Amino acid sequence: MLLIPQPKQWQSLKDVEDYARACIEMCGPPGWSVVWDRAVKRLGCCKFNKRVLSFSRFFVESYLQKDPELIRRTVLHELAHAMAWEKYRERGHGPAWRRACCELGIADERSVCKCDDFAPPERKRQALYALCHAETGEVYRYYYRKPNYSVRRLRLSYIPGQRDHTLGKLRLIDLRESSAKQ
Ligand SMILES: [Zn+2]
Repeated sequence: MLLIPQPKQWQSLKDVEDYARACIEMCGPPGWSVVWDRAVKRLGCCKFNKRVLSFSRFFVESYLQKDPELIRRTVLHELAHAMAWEKYRERGHGPAWRRACCELGIADERSVCKCDDFAPPERKRQALYALCHAETGEVYRYYYRKPNYSVRRLRLSYIPGQRDHTLGKLRLIDLRESSAKQ
């Protein structure tokens, strides 16, 4: 097991970012970085092509005091994806990811984590649906009533300026369901 520096009490997003960077430096493959996103339906994700670990700003903000361990786990969970990818070109929660979890000291980590909805209050109150990227969970638009998208129309849609990244990857999600880790 590798020795990961334990986080002190987290006060801000910056502390989490510093911790994630330290973990990458200590255990992860070189060249990876940490970014924030505005996802509301998953905690973190690993973007293999950009070599980036991306975490939901909303999730971290709402769990900073409530459950620091969940945040720490999420950082290591995504780091394990980066390790499995760089070493074995494995995506998802296969044997290489599991091995990386063991190395990082989270052998019992699960592929999916259910937790409370962490959409910010103003979103929770108003929006019922969101247009998301199926793989990264990134939200592009919120809706206050169900939009009239057919499956076919969604498949042919993309976000202007991000055609390669979003064509065929857009999904409409119901924000009233609970959230999950990817
Ligand atoms: Zn995962």
